[in-house]
Amino acid sequence: MSIIEVKNLTKIYRDGSEPFRALDNVSFQIEAGESVAIVGKSGSGKSTLMHLTALMDKPTSGEILIDGRNTAKLKKRELNKLRNQTFGFVFQQFFMNPKDSVITNVMLPLKIAGISSKKRKQIAMKALQAVELDDKAFSKASNLSGGQKQRVCIARAIANNPKIIFADEPTGNLDTKTGDKVEEILFNLNKERGVTLIIVTHDETLAAKCDRQIHIQDGKIISEGEV
Ligand code: ADP
Ligand code: MG
Repeated sequence: MSIIEVKNLTKIYRDGSEPFRALDNVSFQIEAGESVAIVGKSGSGKSTLMHLTALMDKPTSGEILIDGRNTAKLKKRELNKLRNQTFGFVFQQFFMNPKDSVITNVMLPLKIAGISSKKRKQIAMKALQAVELDDKAFSKASNLSGGQKQRVCIARAIANNPKIIFADEPTGNLDTKTGDKVEEILFNLNKERGVTLIIVTHDETLAAKCDRQIHIQDGKIISEGEV
């Protein structure tokens, strides 16, 4: 059974003057432990596809199965639990609380998961060690560099020991050297811990490092291949 199965997914945005078909009947499967790049030009529907697959938004039609479970049938609480326990998120914009310390930001999903304060600290410190930022644990998040912020986001994404990491343009805002470091951390998680990696990118070099690429254009899959 695939860890993710997307069936006939369509998304029509209706908040503009005309309805806009951002995704058109997209289907694919992802196996546990795979690294998959979702590639395509700006505006092709990559982020839309990722948001739907990560259960952050609802499709107009179609189905998303996680571990064989049809997610449309889940109640809001079950959906939140599934997201919190199974997924980790890394975005291009860092989405941290800038006034809070680094460790407080990393502990947030653990707090949501109901883990005790003492345990939260231990887990968050371990995650920060994994991205080599434990020395910054008590710095204010806003005082970090872009690359450090992205590593904090990775620490936060891995703190819950997720089965799947969704990364939307994770290196998009970073210089090459820092981007390489972030890539290395993500692929290490994939290789060493078997985390399924789904990376949205328009960077062909990054895409080529994944086991498989899903190319999208105008909301449709145009090719799906292995390197
Ligand atoms: P990508 O990530 O590949 O750049 P997106 O998935 O963000 O593309 O967007 C795909 C298309 O859907 C674009 O044309 C974009 O303008 C449109 N779109 C995205 N989000 C919305 C929204 N909330 N409302 C209306 N149109 C949207
Ligand atoms: Mg995008």
